Amino acid sequence: MSEYSKEQIVIIGSGPAAWTGAIYAARANLSPVVIEGVGSRTMIPGGQLMFTTEVENYPGFPDGVTGPKMMSDFRAQALRFDTRVLTEDVMSVNFSGFPLTLSTNTGRVVESGTIIIATGANAQWIGLENEQRLAQSGGGVSACAVCDGALPHFRDRIIAIVGGGDSAMEDALYMAKFAKQVVVIHRRDELRASKIMQERAFEEDKIRFEWNKVVKDVLGEEVISAILLRDMLTGEESELEVEGLFVAIGHTPNTEFLGGQVDLKPNGFIKTPTPWRTETSVPGVFAAGDVMDDYYKQAVTAAGTGCMAALEAERWLAHGGSK
Ligand code: NAP
Repeated sequence: MSEYSKEQIVIIGSGPAAWTGAIYAARANLSPVVIEGVGSRTMIPGGQLMFTTEVENYPGFPDGVTGPKMMSDFRAQALRFDTRVLTEDVMSVNFSGFPLTLSTNTGRVVESGTIIIATGANAQWIGLENEQRLAQSGGGVSACAVCDGALPHFRDRIIAIVGGGDSAMEDALYMAKFAKQVVVIHRRDELRASKIMQERAFEEDKIRFEWNKVVKDVLGEEVISAILLRDMLTGEESELEVEGLFVAIGHTPNTEFLGGQVDLKPNGFIKTPTPWRTETSVPGVFAAGDVMDDYYKQAVTAAGTGCMAALEAERWLAHGGSK
């Protein structure tokens, strides 16, 4: 593709929503362009599923499938039809008129009749200075157990996981394979995780729970040595010696590059005002997957909304689009 191109449909993202949208758009002869993103430690082409081990709840895989394998198959299926892929990041957009315009990190400008935003969501941090310092220096603090958990540093050590959702349980179970003990720190006395994940975590001897606790500080110079906990009920503070900390407290939708040009909900997810539609506040711009879904957040629902967005974009173009 040249440094400048004019397209019918551009899909930003590379998780299940993006690739499903591409499969549908390609099969509708719209020759979609997928801007899949450039890899970083917290966000890689393929999205959050690249940080997941077994996916057991996506229909069609009776024996389960790993997240990365699933994403590479989704991508291959999109490429089998007429999908083009750019491994670039979208840096800014201009939705003030038609065509809709995007600029990428290489300076490329892409104009398009329709755009599907499927940029997913990024891992959240607790927001402590020492948490960030040790995460950035590789000092045993991470927001991705699947990426970093198998490092020798964590073997046969006591490590902590923060969070009470499915991600935290998944991380705890994953880390139980390597660590001496896994301590789950949760701010309430009840987990948010699905029953099956809770049961698995409760059954694992290496996992124990610190209920009603939050992490107030992360201690250690080069490498984490302990965390400072605060009891939510009594206010009491205590130190817990750990040699690893994995933060699994949810995700923030990736919308910064939109520069406020698409309406968001108060919680930061893209607003899709009409029920059962993926259209956004900008005509011709649709949103799919975790960037707009603050409720289901599943691979299969992301794929579903990716399909919806592609069908809506196709119909929008067929009915004259911007005319
Ligand atoms: P989540 O369901 O939103 O859970 C986030 C957890 O972090 C909650 O327990 C929350 O506590 C806690 N939390 C949030 N902010 C916090 C803070 N500042 N300090 C301390 N704790 C904090 O997120 P998730 O676990 O990443 O899951 C996201 C979605 O993906 C869910 O729909 C989940 O089912 C799905 N998922 C599924 C699987 C699987 O099936 N294998 C694996 C991973 C994720 P509260 O409970 O008190 O709010």
